[in-house]
Amino acid sequence: MVERPRVVAVPFPMQGHISPLLQLSYQLAAAGIDITFVNTFRNHERLVGSREVVSKHSSGVITFMGISDGVAAKAFDGGFNESLNASLVASDEMAKPFEELLWKLDGVSCVISDAYLGWAQAVANRFGVPRVALWTSNVAYSLVNYHLPLLVEKGYLGVKDPSSVGFLDNLVTCVPGVEPIYARDLPTVLRYDSGEDPGFANRIRKIQALKHASWVLVNSFEELESAGVESMRRELGTQNYVTVGPLLVEDTGGRKSLWSEDEACLKWLDSQKPGSVLYISFGSIASIAGAQMRSIVKGLGDTRQPFLWAMRKNLLVPDSDYSERSFQEFMGATKAQGQGLIVEWAPQVKVLQHRALGGHLSHCGWNSVLESMAMGVPILGWPCVAEQTMNCKRIAEDWKIGLRFTTDDAKQQLVSDEEVARVIKKLFCEGEGREIKKRAREFSAIVKTAVSPGGSSHRNLERLVQAIKFGRL
Ligand code: UDP
Repeated sequence: MVERPRVVAVPFPMQGHISPLLQLSYQLAAAGIDITFVNTFRNHERLVGSREVVSKHSSGVITFMGISDGVAAKAFDGGFNESLNASLVASDEMAKPFEELLWKLDGVSCVISDAYLGWAQAVANRFGVPRVALWTSNVAYSLVNYHLPLLVEKGYLGVKDPSSVGFLDNLVTCVPGVEPIYARDLPTVLRYDSGEDPGFANRIRKIQALKHASWVLVNSFEELESAGVESMRRELGTQNYVTVGPLLVEDTGGRKSLWSEDEACLKWLDSQKPGSVLYISFGSIASIAGAQMRSIVKGLGDTRQPFLWAMRKNLLVPDSDYSERSFQEFMGATKAQGQGLIVEWAPQVKVLQHRALGGHLSHCGWNSVLESMAMGVPILGWPCVAEQTMNCKRIAEDWKIGLRFTTDDAKQQLVSDEEVARVIKKLFCEGEGREIKKRAREFSAIVKTAVSPGGSSHRNLERLVQAIKFGRL
Protein backbone atom coordinates (compact mmCIF):
# COMPACT_ATOMS: atom_id res chain seq x y z
CA MET A 1 0.00 0.00 0.00
CA VAL A 2 1.32 3.47 -0.91
CA GLU A 3 1.64 5.68 2.16
CA ARG A 4 -0.29 8.92 2.14
CA PRO A 5 1.87 12.04 2.45
CA ARG A 6 1.60 13.89 5.73
CA VAL A 7 1.56 17.68 5.99
CA VAL A 8 1.79 19.67 9.22
CA ALA A 9 -0.39 22.80 9.14
CA VAL A 10 0.04 25.66 11.60
CA PRO A 11 -2.17 28.78 11.60
CA PHE A 12 -1.58 32.21 13.13
CA PRO A 13 -3.66 32.03 16.36
CA MET A 14 -6.73 34.04 15.30
CA GLN A 15 -10.10 33.04 13.87
CA GLY A 16 -9.61 34.87 10.56
CA HIS A 17 -6.34 32.97 10.00
CA ILE A 18 -7.45 29.58 11.34
CA SER A 19 -10.53 29.39 9.04
CA PRO A 20 -8.80 29.49 5.64
CA LEU A 21 -6.01 27.10 6.68
CA LEU A 22 -8.63 24.75 8.06
CA GLN A 23 -10.52 24.82 4.78
CA LEU A 24 -7.30 24.24 2.83
CA SER A 25 -6.62 21.26 5.10
CA TYR A 26 -10.08 19.80 4.46
CA GLN A 27 -9.46 20.10 0.72
CA LEU A 28 -6.04 18.48 0.92
CA ALA A 29 -7.46 15.68 3.08
CA ALA A 30 -10.20 15.10 0.51
CA ALA A 31 -7.41 14.71 -2.07
CA GLY A 32 -5.73 11.96 -0.05
CA ILE A 33 -3.22 13.87 2.08
CA ASP A 34 -3.03 13.42 5.85
CA ILE A 35 -2.89 16.61 7.88
CA THR A 36 -1.69 17.32 11.40
CA PHE A 37 -3.40 20.62 12.30
CA VAL A 38 -1.53 22.38 15.11
CA ASN A 39 -3.24 25.09 17.17
CA THR A 40 -2.27 26.71 20.43
CA PHE A 41 -3.78 24.69 23.30
CA ARG A 42 -6.28 27.43 23.95
CA ASN A 43 -7.56 27.57 20.36
CA HIS A 44 -7.35 23.79 20.03
CA GLU A 45 -9.68 23.37 22.99
CA ARG A 46 -12.08 26.00 21.71
CA LEU A 47 -12.11 24.42 18.27
CA VAL A 48 -12.26 20.70 18.97
CA GLY A 49 -12.53 20.49 22.73
CA SER A 50 -9.97 17.84 23.70
CA ARG A 51 -6.28 17.04 23.50
CA GLU A 52 -6.05 15.15 20.22
CA VAL A 53 -8.84 14.66 17.73
CA VAL A 54 -8.86 12.76 14.49
CA SER A 55 -11.29 13.58 11.72
CA LYS A 56 -11.61 11.47 8.55
CA HIS A 57 -12.23 13.17 5.20
CA SER A 58 -12.98 10.75 2.37
CA SER A 59 -9.39 9.81 1.61
CA GLY A 60 -7.15 11.68 4.08
CA VAL A 61 -7.20 12.14 7.85
CA ILE A 62 -6.88 15.37 9.86
CA THR A 63 -5.36 15.05 13.32
CA PHE A 64 -5.84 18.12 15.50
CA MET A 65 -3.14 18.80 18.10
CA GLY A 66 -2.40 21.55 20.59
CA ILE A 67 0.88 23.17 21.60
CA SER A 68 1.76 25.71 24.25
CA ASP A 69 1.59 29.38 23.32
CA GLY A 70 3.55 30.56 26.33
CA VAL A 71 0.91 33.15 27.20
CA ALA A 72 -1.06 33.03 30.42
CA ALA A 73 -4.71 32.25 29.68
CA LYS A 74 -5.81 35.34 31.56
CA ALA A 75 -4.08 37.52 28.98
CA PHE A 76 -6.82 36.47 26.55
CA ASP A 77 -9.74 37.24 28.77
CA GLY A 78 -9.88 40.98 28.33
CA GLY A 79 -11.28 43.06 25.50
CA PHE A 80 -10.04 43.63 21.99
CA ASN A 81 -6.54 44.92 22.67
CA GLU A 82 -5.66 42.25 25.19
CA SER A 83 -6.76 39.42 22.95
CA LEU A 84 -5.06 40.88 19.87
CA ASN A 85 -1.81 41.50 21.70
CA ALA A 86 -1.92 38.08 23.33
CA SER A 87 -2.33 36.48 19.89
CA LEU A 88 0.68 38.38 18.63
CA VAL A 89 2.78 37.22 21.58
CA ALA A 90 1.49 33.66 21.20
CA SER A 91 2.38 33.63 17.50
CA ASP A 92 6.06 34.03 18.43
CA GLU A 93 5.98 31.82 21.51
CA MET A 94 4.63 28.93 19.44
CA ALA A 95 7.87 28.56 17.50
CA LYS A 96 9.76 26.37 20.00
CA PRO A 97 6.93 24.00 20.97
CA PHE A 98 6.05 23.67 17.29
CA GLU A 99 9.59 22.61 16.41
CA GLU A 100 9.66 20.14 19.33
CA LEU A 101 6.40 18.60 18.12
CA LEU A 102 7.68 18.36 14.56
CA TRP A 103 10.67 16.26 15.63
CA LYS A 104 8.28 13.80 17.30
CA LEU A 105 6.18 13.22 14.15
CA ASP A 106 7.01 10.60 11.52
CA GLY A 107 6.85 10.91 7.77
CA VAL A 108 6.26 14.66 7.50
CA SER A 109 6.63 15.81 3.89
CA CYS A 110 6.07 19.53 4.34
CA VAL A 111 4.97 22.33 6.66
CA ILE A 112 2.13 24.63 5.65
CA SER A 113 2.23 27.67 7.87
CA ASP A 114 0.51 31.01 7.99
CA ALA A 115 2.69 33.53 6.13
CA TYR A 116 2.74 35.66 9.32
CA LEU A 117 4.62 32.89 11.15
CA GLY A 118 7.96 33.89 9.65
CA TRP A 119 9.85 31.51 11.99
CA ALA A 120 8.26 28.53 10.23
CA GLN A 121 10.75 28.89 7.39
CA ALA A 122 13.77 28.40 9.65
CA VAL A 123 12.03 25.54 11.47
CA ALA A 124 11.20 23.77 8.20
CA ASN A 125 14.78 24.32 6.97
CA ARG A 126 16.25 22.77 10.14
CA PHE A 127 13.82 19.88 9.87
CA GLY A 128 14.73 19.42 6.21
CA VAL A 129 11.27 19.75 4.62
CA PRO A 130 9.80 22.42 2.31
CA ARG A 131 7.62 25.17 3.72
CA VAL A 132 4.44 26.28 2.00
CA ALA A 133 3.16 29.67 3.25
CA LEU A 134 -0.49 30.68 3.27
CA TRP A 135 -1.18 34.41 2.94
CA THR A 136 -4.72 34.60 4.31
CA SER A 137 -5.39 38.13 3.06
CA ASN A 138 -5.39 39.39 -0.53
CA VAL A 139 -2.67 39.97 -3.12
CA ALA A 140 -2.81 43.77 -2.88
CA TYR A 141 -2.11 43.65 0.85
CA SER A 142 0.88 41.40 0.27
CA LEU A 143 2.19 43.95 -2.24
CA VAL A 144 1.73 46.86 0.16
CA ASN A 145 3.64 44.92 2.81
CA TYR A 146 6.34 44.04 0.30
CA HIS A 147 6.75 47.69 -0.71
CA LEU A 148 6.68 49.09 2.82
CA PRO A 149 10.20 50.58 2.58
CA LEU A 150 9.21 52.44 -0.62
CA LEU A 151 5.96 53.68 0.92
CA VAL A 152 7.79 54.99 3.96
CA GLU A 153 10.48 56.60 1.82
CA LYS A 154 7.81 58.44 -0.17
CA GLY A 155 6.13 59.55 3.05
CA TYR A 156 2.84 57.65 2.53
CA LEU A 157 3.27 55.47 5.60
CA GLY A 158 5.25 55.73 8.80
CA VAL A 159 4.46 59.43 9.29
CA LYS A 160 4.33 60.50 12.93
CA ASP A 161 1.36 62.86 12.55
CA PRO A 162 -0.53 62.09 9.33
CA SER A 163 -3.19 64.76 9.85
CA SER A 164 -0.71 67.67 9.88
CA VAL A 165 0.71 67.33 6.37
CA GLY A 166 -2.30 66.62 4.20
CA PHE A 167 -0.85 63.12 4.13
CA LEU A 168 -4.18 61.36 3.99
CA ASP A 169 -5.09 63.07 0.68
CA ASN A 170 -2.03 61.79 -1.18
CA LEU A 171 -2.84 59.51 -4.09
CA VAL A 172 -0.53 56.51 -3.97
CA THR A 173 0.31 55.09 -7.40
CA CYS A 174 3.75 53.62 -6.81
CA VAL A 175 2.89 50.04 -5.88
CA PRO A 176 2.96 47.96 -9.06
CA GLY A 177 -0.15 45.81 -9.33
CA VAL A 178 -2.19 47.86 -6.84
CA GLU A 179 -4.89 50.24 -8.11
CA PRO A 180 -4.32 53.94 -7.19
CA ILE A 181 -5.34 54.47 -3.58
CA TYR A 182 -5.48 57.48 -1.27
CA ALA A 183 -3.15 57.25 1.72
CA ARG A 184 -6.22 57.43 3.99
CA ASP A 185 -7.25 54.03 2.61
CA LEU A 186 -3.90 52.32 3.07
CA PRO A 187 -3.93 49.68 5.82
CA THR A 188 -4.27 51.46 9.14
CA VAL A 189 -2.08 48.83 10.77
CA LEU A 190 0.87 50.13 8.73
CA ARG A 191 0.11 53.82 9.01
CA TYR A 192 2.16 54.65 12.06
CA ASP A 193 4.96 52.18 11.49
CA SER A 194 8.31 53.77 10.89
CA GLY A 195 11.77 52.64 9.90
CA GLU A 196 12.83 52.44 13.54
CA ASP A 197 9.76 50.57 14.69
CA PRO A 198 10.44 46.86 15.45
CA GLY A 199 6.94 46.02 14.12
CA PHE A 200 7.95 47.49 10.78
CA ALA A 201 11.22 45.53 10.61
CA ASN A 202 9.34 42.34 11.55
CA ARG A 203 6.87 42.79 8.74
CA ILE A 204 9.63 43.23 6.22
CA ARG A 205 11.43 40.15 7.52
CA LYS A 206 8.30 38.03 7.31
CA ILE A 207 7.41 39.06 3.79
CA GLN A 208 11.01 38.67 2.61
CA ALA A 209 11.03 35.17 4.12
CA LEU A 210 8.36 34.27 1.56
CA LYS A 211 11.16 34.26 -1.04
CA HIS A 212 12.45 31.08 0.60
CA ALA A 213 9.06 29.34 0.78
CA SER A 214 8.54 26.59 -1.79
CA TRP A 215 5.05 27.85 -2.51
CA VAL A 216 3.07 30.90 -1.40
CA LEU A 217 -0.69 30.34 -1.44
CA VAL A 218 -3.02 33.33 -1.38
CA ASN A 219 -6.65 33.36 -0.28
CA SER A 220 -7.86 35.20 -3.37
CA PHE A 221 -8.55 34.35 -6.99
CA GLU A 222 -6.73 35.26 -10.18
CA GLU A 223 -9.67 36.95 -11.91
CA LEU A 224 -9.85 39.47 -9.07
CA GLU A 225 -6.18 40.42 -8.80
CA SER A 226 -4.33 39.18 -11.89
CA ALA A 227 -2.03 42.24 -12.22
CA GLY A 228 -1.12 41.93 -8.53
CA VAL A 229 -0.35 38.23 -8.87
CA GLU A 230 2.08 38.94 -11.73
CA SER A 231 3.69 41.77 -9.81
CA MET A 232 4.18 39.69 -6.66
CA ARG A 233 5.58 36.79 -8.72
CA ARG A 234 8.17 39.17 -10.17
CA GLU A 235 9.10 40.47 -6.71
CA LEU A 236 9.41 37.03 -5.14
CA GLY A 237 11.03 35.56 -8.23
CA THR A 238 8.70 32.54 -8.34
CA GLN A 239 5.77 31.19 -10.30
CA ASN A 240 4.69 29.36 -7.16
CA TYR A 241 2.92 32.41 -5.75
CA VAL A 242 -0.60 31.19 -6.50
CA THR A 243 -4.19 32.04 -5.64
CA VAL A 244 -6.26 29.19 -4.17
CA GLY A 245 -9.28 31.06 -2.85
CA PRO A 246 -11.79 31.78 -1.72
CA LEU A 247 -11.08 29.21 0.99
CA LEU A 248 -14.55 29.20 2.52
CA VAL A 249 -15.07 27.00 5.52
CA GLU A 250 -17.96 24.83 4.48
CA ASP A 251 -19.95 22.29 6.37
CA THR A 252 -17.46 19.56 7.03
CA GLY A 253 -19.23 18.08 10.02
CA GLY A 254 -16.54 19.39 12.35
CA ARG A 255 -16.41 22.60 14.36
CA LYS A 256 -14.84 25.50 12.51
CA SER A 257 -15.19 28.48 14.84
CA LEU A 258 -13.64 29.37 18.16
CA TRP A 259 -17.15 30.45 19.21
CA SER A 260 -20.18 28.18 19.06
CA GLU A 261 -22.50 29.13 16.25
CA ASP A 262 -26.08 30.09 16.97
CA GLU A 263 -27.96 28.08 14.35
CA ALA A 264 -31.34 29.30 15.59
CA CYS A 265 -30.91 32.51 13.63
CA LEU A 266 -31.33 30.52 10.40
CA LYS A 267 -34.91 29.72 11.44
CA TRP A 268 -35.53 33.40 12.05
CA LEU A 269 -34.16 34.15 8.57
CA ASP A 270 -36.63 31.61 7.16
CA SER A 271 -39.43 33.87 8.36
CA GLN A 272 -38.10 36.96 6.55
CA LYS A 273 -38.81 38.16 3.00
CA PRO A 274 -36.23 37.29 0.30
CA GLY A 275 -33.44 39.88 0.00
CA SER A 276 -34.76 41.93 2.94
CA VAL A 277 -32.31 41.31 5.80
CA LEU A 278 -29.16 43.27 6.60
CA TYR A 279 -26.58 41.05 8.32
CA ILE A 280 -24.20 42.96 10.61
CA SER A 281 -20.87 41.59 11.77
CA PHE A 282 -17.53 43.03 12.82
CA GLY A 283 -15.65 39.73 12.74
CA SER A 284 -13.63 38.22 15.55
CA ILE A 285 -11.40 41.05 16.85
CA ALA A 286 -12.63 44.51 15.86
CA SER A 287 -14.45 46.67 18.38
CA ILE A 288 -16.47 49.85 18.03
CA ALA A 289 -16.94 52.89 20.24
CA GLY A 290 -20.19 53.64 22.01
CA ALA A 291 -20.86 56.67 19.82
CA GLN A 292 -20.66 54.47 16.74
CA MET A 293 -22.89 51.82 18.27
CA ARG A 294 -25.45 54.56 18.92
CA SER A 295 -25.28 55.69 15.26
CA ILE A 296 -25.87 52.18 13.97
CA VAL A 297 -28.71 51.54 16.40
CA LYS A 298 -30.43 54.85 15.61
CA GLY A 299 -29.83 54.64 11.85
CA LEU A 300 -31.14 51.07 11.73
CA GLY A 301 -34.20 52.05 13.73
CA ASP A 302 -34.93 54.87 11.30
CA THR A 303 -34.79 52.61 8.25
CA ARG A 304 -36.94 49.85 9.80
CA GLN A 305 -34.79 47.41 7.78
CA PRO A 306 -34.86 43.87 9.22
CA PHE A 307 -31.42 42.90 10.54
CA LEU A 308 -29.44 40.04 12.04
CA TRP A 309 -26.51 41.24 14.16
CA ALA A 310 -23.66 38.95 15.21
CA MET A 311 -22.47 40.75 18.32
CA ARG A 312 -19.52 39.36 20.28
CA LYS A 313 -19.47 40.18 23.98
CA ASN A 314 -16.39 42.40 23.62
CA LEU A 315 -17.56 44.21 20.48
CA LEU A 316 -18.24 47.45 22.31
CA VAL A 317 -15.23 49.44 23.53
CA PRO A 318 -15.93 50.04 27.20
CA ASP A 319 -16.76 53.72 27.52
CA SER A 320 -19.31 55.84 29.29
CA ASP A 321 -20.82 57.05 26.05
CA TYR A 322 -23.01 54.04 25.46
CA SER A 323 -24.03 52.16 28.53
CA GLU A 324 -25.03 48.58 29.03
CA ARG A 325 -28.48 49.95 29.91
CA SER A 326 -28.94 51.76 26.58
CA PHE A 327 -27.93 48.57 24.88
CA GLN A 328 -30.39 46.44 26.83
CA GLU A 329 -33.12 48.95 25.92
CA PHE A 330 -32.19 48.61 22.28
CA MET A 331 -32.30 44.82 22.55
CA GLY A 332 -35.73 45.00 24.19
CA ALA A 333 -37.13 47.39 21.58
CA THR A 334 -35.71 45.32 18.74
CA LYS A 335 -37.35 42.21 20.08
CA ALA A 336 -40.66 43.91 20.74
CA GLN A 337 -40.82 45.37 17.22
CA GLY A 338 -39.57 42.17 15.60
CA GLN A 339 -37.23 44.23 13.43
CA GLY A 340 -34.12 42.28 14.16
CA LEU A 341 -32.28 39.51 15.94
CA ILE A 342 -29.00 39.63 17.85
CA VAL A 343 -26.80 36.58 18.35
CA GLU A 344 -23.30 36.30 19.79
CA TRP A 345 -21.79 34.35 16.90
CA ALA A 346 -23.59 33.42 13.67
CA PRO A 347 -22.95 30.58 11.21
CA GLN A 348 -21.84 33.32 8.83
CA VAL A 349 -21.43 31.39 5.60
CA LYS A 350 -24.87 29.80 5.99
CA VAL A 351 -26.36 33.20 6.85
CA LEU A 352 -24.87 34.79 3.74
CA GLN A 353 -26.22 31.91 1.64
CA HIS A 354 -29.75 32.43 2.94
CA ARG A 355 -32.30 33.81 0.47
CA ALA A 356 -33.48 36.37 3.07
CA LEU A 357 -30.10 38.18 2.92
CA GLY A 358 -29.99 41.51 1.11
CA GLY A 359 -26.79 43.09 2.43
CA HIS A 360 -23.86 42.70 4.81
CA LEU A 361 -22.73 45.57 7.01
CA SER A 362 -19.18 44.39 7.53
CA HIS A 363 -15.86 45.46 9.03
CA CYS A 364 -14.38 44.24 5.72
CA GLY A 365 -12.18 41.51 7.20
CA TRP A 366 -10.90 39.60 4.18
CA ASN A 367 -12.69 36.32 4.95
CA SER A 368 -15.96 38.18 5.34
CA VAL A 369 -15.40 40.02 2.07
CA LEU A 370 -14.73 36.76 0.21
CA GLU A 371 -17.70 35.03 1.81
CA SER A 372 -20.06 37.86 0.81
CA MET A 373 -18.57 37.98 -2.65
CA ALA A 374 -18.99 34.24 -3.09
CA MET A 375 -22.64 34.42 -2.04
CA GLY A 376 -23.36 37.54 -4.12
CA VAL A 377 -24.28 39.64 -1.07
CA PRO A 378 -23.41 43.38 -1.36
CA ILE A 379 -21.27 44.85 1.40
CA LEU A 380 -21.74 48.06 3.38
CA GLY A 381 -18.17 48.70 4.50
CA TRP A 382 -17.38 49.83 8.03
CA PRO A 383 -13.63 49.19 8.29
CA CYS A 384 -11.99 49.12 11.70
CA VAL A 385 -8.42 47.78 11.76
CA ALA A 386 -5.65 46.05 9.78
CA GLU A 387 -6.12 46.17 5.96
CA GLN A 388 -9.89 46.67 6.23
CA THR A 389 -9.81 50.29 4.98
CA MET A 390 -8.11 49.12 1.81
CA ASN A 391 -10.58 46.25 1.33
CA CYS A 392 -13.46 48.69 1.83
CA LYS A 393 -12.16 51.09 -0.80
CA ARG A 394 -11.79 48.29 -3.33
CA ILE A 395 -15.32 47.00 -2.60
CA ALA A 396 -16.96 50.39 -3.06
CA GLU A 397 -14.78 52.00 -5.73
CA ASP A 398 -12.93 49.38 -7.75
CA TRP A 399 -15.30 46.42 -7.74
CA LYS A 400 -18.52 48.35 -7.03
CA ILE A 401 -20.09 45.48 -5.12
CA GLY A 402 -20.92 47.60 -2.09
CA LEU A 403 -21.00 51.04 -0.52
CA ARG A 404 -18.95 52.75 2.15
CA PHE A 405 -20.05 54.99 4.99
CA THR A 406 -18.71 58.54 4.86
CA THR A 407 -17.14 59.74 8.08
CA ASP A 408 -17.59 63.22 9.43
CA ASP A 409 -14.07 64.65 9.83
CA ALA A 410 -15.35 67.44 12.07
CA LYS A 411 -16.55 64.73 14.45
CA GLN A 412 -13.27 62.80 14.57
CA GLN A 413 -14.13 60.54 11.68
CA LEU A 414 -17.37 59.29 13.16
CA VAL A 415 -20.24 57.96 11.09
CA SER A 416 -23.53 59.72 11.92
CA ASP A 417 -26.87 57.97 12.32
CA GLU A 418 -28.19 59.90 9.28
CA GLU A 419 -25.32 58.45 7.24
CA VAL A 420 -26.10 54.94 8.47
CA ALA A 421 -29.72 55.32 7.40
CA ARG A 422 -28.77 56.94 4.05
CA VAL A 423 -26.43 54.11 3.03
CA ILE A 424 -28.81 51.34 4.09
CA LYS A 425 -31.66 52.98 2.16
CA LYS A 426 -29.43 53.45 -0.88
CA LEU A 427 -28.72 49.72 -0.99
CA PHE A 428 -32.21 48.47 -0.30
CA CYS A 429 -34.42 51.13 -1.92
CA GLU A 430 -32.58 52.95 -4.71
CA GLY A 431 -31.50 52.30 -8.30
CA GLU A 432 -27.80 52.41 -7.39
CA GLY A 433 -28.46 49.65 -4.88
CA ARG A 434 -30.01 47.50 -7.59
CA GLU A 435 -26.92 48.00 -9.79
CA ILE A 436 -24.66 47.00 -6.88
CA LYS A 437 -26.73 43.88 -6.22
CA LYS A 438 -26.44 42.94 -9.89
CA ARG A 439 -22.66 43.33 -9.83
CA ALA A 440 -22.42 41.35 -6.61
CA ARG A 441 -24.26 38.47 -8.34
CA GLU A 442 -21.85 38.71 -11.29
CA PHE A 443 -18.87 38.46 -8.91
CA SER A 444 -20.43 35.45 -7.26
CA ALA A 445 -20.54 33.68 -10.63
CA ILE A 446 -16.83 34.45 -11.20
CA VAL A 447 -15.96 33.05 -7.77
CA LYS A 448 -17.87 29.86 -8.47
CA THR A 449 -16.00 29.36 -11.73
CA ALA A 450 -12.63 29.95 -10.04
CA VAL A 451 -13.19 27.22 -7.45
CA SER A 452 -14.91 24.70 -9.75
CA PRO A 453 -13.01 22.01 -11.68
CA GLY A 454 -11.00 23.72 -14.43
CA GLY A 455 -11.18 27.12 -12.65
CA SER A 456 -8.06 29.10 -11.70
CA SER A 457 -8.00 28.36 -7.95
CA HIS A 458 -9.02 24.75 -8.48
CA ARG A 459 -6.17 24.21 -10.96
CA ASN A 460 -3.63 25.77 -8.61
CA LEU A 461 -4.79 23.54 -5.77
CA GLU A 462 -4.53 20.48 -7.99
CA ARG A 463 -0.96 21.46 -8.90
CA LEU A 464 -0.17 21.80 -5.21
CA VAL A 465 -1.67 18.39 -4.41
CA GLN A 466 0.41 16.75 -7.13
CA ALA A 467 3.55 18.52 -5.94
CA ILE A 468 2.96 17.30 -2.37
CA LYS A 469 2.13 13.74 -3.48
CA PHE A 470 5.12 13.38 -5.75
CA GLY A 471 7.59 15.22 -3.50
CA ARG A 472 8.14 18.00 -6.02
CA LEU A 473 7.44 21.05 -3.86
N1 UDP B 1 -17.60 34.71 11.63
C1 UDP B 1 -18.59 33.80 11.93
N2 UDP B 1 -19.62 34.22 12.73
C2 UDP B 1 -19.71 35.48 13.22
C3 UDP B 1 -18.70 36.40 12.89
C4 UDP B 1 -17.66 35.99 12.08
O1 UDP B 1 -18.54 32.64 11.51
O2 UDP B 1 -20.68 35.76 13.94
C5 UDP B 1 -16.47 34.26 10.79
C6 UDP B 1 -16.57 34.82 9.39
O3 UDP B 1 -17.38 33.97 8.59
C7 UDP B 1 -15.12 34.87 8.96
C8 UDP B 1 -14.34 35.01 10.26
O4 UDP B 1 -15.25 34.73 11.31
O5 UDP B 1 -14.76 33.65 8.32
C9 UDP B 1 -13.80 36.40 10.49
O6 UDP B 1 -12.74 36.61 9.64
P1 UDP B 1 -12.52 38.01 8.92
O7 UDP B 1 -11.30 37.89 8.08
O8 UDP B 1 -13.75 38.43 8.21
O9 UDP B 1 -12.32 39.04 10.09
P2 UDP B 1 -11.37 39.06 11.40
O10 UDP B 1 -12.10 38.33 12.44
O11 UDP B 1 -10.07 38.41 11.03
O12 UDP B 1 -11.26 40.51 11.69
